[in-house]
Amino acid sequence: MMTIKEIYEKFDKIGCTTFSTIHDGRAESRIAHFFAWDEDGIYFRTMIVKPFYKQVKEAGNITVCGMYPNSQVMHDENNLPSFVPGYSVRLTGDVRELSMKEVEEKAAHNRDFNVAVYDIKKYPATRIFLIYRAKGECYDFDYGKEHRDHKLERERFSYGGMEVEPAGLTITDKCIGCGKCQTVCSFDAIVSGTPYRIRGNRCDECGNCYVNCPAGAIVSKGL
Ligand code: SF4
Ligand code: SF4
Repeated sequence: MMTIKEIYEKFDKIGCTTFSTIHDGRAESRIAHFFAWDEDGIYFRTMIVKPFYKQVKEAGNITVCGMYPNSQVMHDENNLPSFVPGYSVRLTGDVRELSMKEVEEKAAHNRDFNVAVYDIKKYPATRIFLIYRAKGECYDFDYGKEHRDHKLERERFSYGGMEVEPAGLTITDKCIGCGKCQTVCSFDAIVSGTPYRIRGNRCDECGNCYVNCPAGAIVSKGL
């Protein structure tokens, strides 16, 4: 399981990421970034005059995602989308606001918090939030198989006691062993056996196996 430090580093490499909240029942997004991590979780800041602040306070949770190293969509000779190998990472977590005293105590032994202390002094409307409990996923893709023999490696993570579900579809005992699913899976995610088995860390949840299985043996959490 990825550590809080490793999760933070995935986001930190991206820099600015998309932070989404709920406002009056509607999803809203904006670009922001994390500035620190420690054993308690991952930290971001905003100002009390921004709608972002009110939404985070009211909901008590947030979701964040980003993509590295290149978020541009290119197109091949058939005008199909293609991507430079990299990863996307997403996280959803519960948040709480820190007091100035807490921020100053953390700054005393963690230099990443100095910027927060500086910001609060320069812009007194600044507030610091901690994501103290979260779960998410790093989705590492190499669709052209430039660096390995399969397209996808997914790794789910959690901290602070949040539970995480495994990725991917599942094959049940209804499987008759015909092998059709393996033939139509371009992610090399299916292993022969009785029943056949899906490697969740490689499964894109594209649905090809699901729609082609003659026995109705494949189930998805999304259905
Ligand atoms: S297509 Fe369905 S029945 Fe055939 S091997 Fe795959 S899961 Fe089993
Ligand atoms: S959902 Fe797609 S990627 Fe996942 S096992 Fe089925 S065919 Fe492969």
